[in-house]
Amino acid sequence: MEVLFTRYEGNAWEEYFLPRLSFKEVQEMDKENALIVLPIGAVEQHGSHLPLMTDSLIGEASITKTMEYLTPDSNIWLIPPLSYGKSNEHLDFPGTISLSSANLQGVIIDIARSLSRSGFRRLVLFNSHGGNIDLLNMVAREIHIETEMMVFITSSGSADKSDIFTEEELKWGIHGGDVETSMIMAVKPSWVREEYLTAEFPPLKEFDYLSLKGKVRIAWKINDLSKSGIAGNATKATPKKGEIVFIRSAEEMAIALKEMAEFEIEQLLED
Ligand SMILES: [Zn+2]
Repeated sequence: MEVLFTRYEGNAWEEYFLPRLSFKEVQEMDKENALIVLPIGAVEQHGSHLPLMTDSLIGEASITKTMEYLTPDSNIWLIPPLSYGKSNEHLDFPGTISLSSANLQGVIIDIARSLSRSGFRRLVLFNSHGGNIDLLNMVAREIHIETEMMVFITSSGSADKSDIFTEEELKWGIHGGDVETSMIMAVKPSWVREEYLTAEFPPLKEFDYLSLKGKVRIAWKINDLSKSGIAGNATKATPKKGEIVFIRSAEEMAIALKEMAEFEIEQLLED
C-alpha cells in the first residue's frame, strides 16, 4: 500500500510514545517507576534563514535520537511535545506564536496534574528554547510542591560543544547562529534558506558586567540586541557539526534519563 503518513517514526514514537498505548495498558503498567518526558519548544523567528519551527524541531529530533539509546526495560515514556513556548521576546517578528507566561505555566501544570492523577511520579521538562528556562524552573517547583511529583528540567543539545564551536559562538550565539543552524541543517536541510545565512552578535562585548548569562543580566527583546533577529554566526554552520551535537547529546541524555528514572527524592535523607 502507498505510504500515506510518515510522522512518528523511530523508537521514540513507535515504542516509547505513551499515548500510542490504550488507557488499559497505562492502567496496568508500572507507573511508580516510570519517567515521563515532555518536550517543550517554541515557534518563533530565527532570522531569515531558519524556520519558525527551529526550537520545536530541535527538541523533537533530540528526543527521537535520545530514545534510540534506551533499552525496552527503561520505562521512559514520551508524551506529545508542546510546540509553543514563551516567545514574547520575538513577537515583533511575524510568524512568532507565543503563549503568555501564565498560559504556558497553566498548560504544563495541567499536564502534570493529569499525569499525577494517572499515578505517574516522575516528569522531565525537556526544553529546547532558552526563553522558557526561567518559567520552567519556577513551574517545576510548583508542580513538585503541589503534586509531590519528582520534576526534572533539561535541555536539548546540552552536551559539551567547546571543540566544535568558537568561544564567541558559545558565549553570545544564543539564537539562530552556528549551533542552531547546524542542527537544523542536520535534520531538515530543506527548511534552511542558505542564501540568507548571516552573522550578528549582540553589541554587549565591551561591558564588564552586563551580559545575557553572567552576573548582571539585562531584560531584553530580540530587537534590542539584533537587527537580523539572530545572535551568532550562521555562516559557519555545517550539517556535520549539527549531527555531532545531536549524537553526542543523545548518548549523554539517554544516561541522564536513566538516572532520573531511578531517582527517589524521598530517599535522599534516609540513612
Ligand atoms: Zn532557538
